Amino acid sequence: MKPALFVSDLHLSPARPAMLEAFERFCAGPARGASGLWVLGDLFDAWAGDDELADPLPARTVAALAAVAAAGTAVAVMRGNRDLLLGERFAAAAGARLLPDAVVAPVAGTPTLLLHGDTLCTDDLAYQRYRARVHDPTLQRRFLALPWIIRRALVAGIRGTSRRATARKPTAIMDVNAGAVAAAFAEHGVTRMIHGHTHRPARHHLTVDGAPAERWVLPDWYDAAGYLAVDAGGATFERLD
Ligand code: MN
Repeated sequence: MKPALFVSDLHLSPARPAMLEAFERFCAGPARGASGLWVLGDLFDAWAGDDELADPLPARTVAALAAVAAAGTAVAVMRGNRDLLLGERFAAAAGARLLPDAVVAPVAGTPTLLLHGDTLCTDDLAYQRYRARVHDPTLQRRFLALPWIIRRALVAGIRGTSRRATARKPTAIMDVNAGAVAAAFAEHGVTRMIHGHTHRPARHHLTVDGAPAERWVLPDWYDAAGYLAVDAGGATFERLD
């Protein structure tokens, strides 16, 4: 049985060209033999709208994904907090399906809740206030109507503010909230969840309504490239050389 592969938090950016090359190797290698490739947010470090497709790094990323799709692997992409403005032009170019913020998919026979993960970090009140604002459809429409050069500058400004805020925050509030995790399991009626965002790769065992459940946290692609492979035998973390 072909595994389903999960990645997130690649944060592809011209500042780290080696990771783009790693992603191209991943797409030309393991992803071709997969039943599905699921990108659970923050594929890109920043995304000011689908005009980004004209730039070399997004163009190469999208070409790599499109080749995976053309080879017969279903490609699905979820927006993260950094690339929340990924749109239909991106999806069409990548041969990908854009996923909603939370989705339950049958993964190797097990209904599995897929998330980026930021919605679980409810202790970070300032971030959740910011998130509610930038997910406002009216605000997004107005933003996307601005000239490209303005959008890019605004996104760069937000990145700077966010980086300074993150540096000041205690690390505990940037992890998931246990109550939010329990609520997500209950709301979606699943016993397995896969998400990224926190950059704290792990397999967590929990008990939900008396039944064993597991929460898999995907690795980021800062120092190494890694992914989660899931088949009927279970899930395993894999590293790309
Ligand atoms: Mn994130």
